[in-house]
Amino acid sequence: MNQAMRCPMCGGNCRDGATTFTVDLGFGVVVIREVPATVCEQCGADWIDDTASEVLERLVADAREKHAMIEVATYKDLKAS
Ligand SMILES: [Zn+2]
Repeated sequence: MNQAMRCPMCGGNCRDGATTFTVDLGFGVVVIREVPATVCEQCGADWIDDTASEVLERLVADAREKHAMIEVATYKDLKAS
């Protein structure tokens, strides 16, 4: 992808960055920091990369199984394990 993505919300420029992913499981929350994402420079909207979302899905499934109240991780550590 050579063409810069335009933000669908505000039309601003998007660039590679990182975001914090949070999901509420009802019984607990999962927080993953420093997730690779495309971030809008103007309004801060973000889109998590496909490869990253697969990793996140696995972690969420895992947390659901464990019934973790709070699961906090950094993306780099997830990929390493
Ligand atoms: Zn935007």
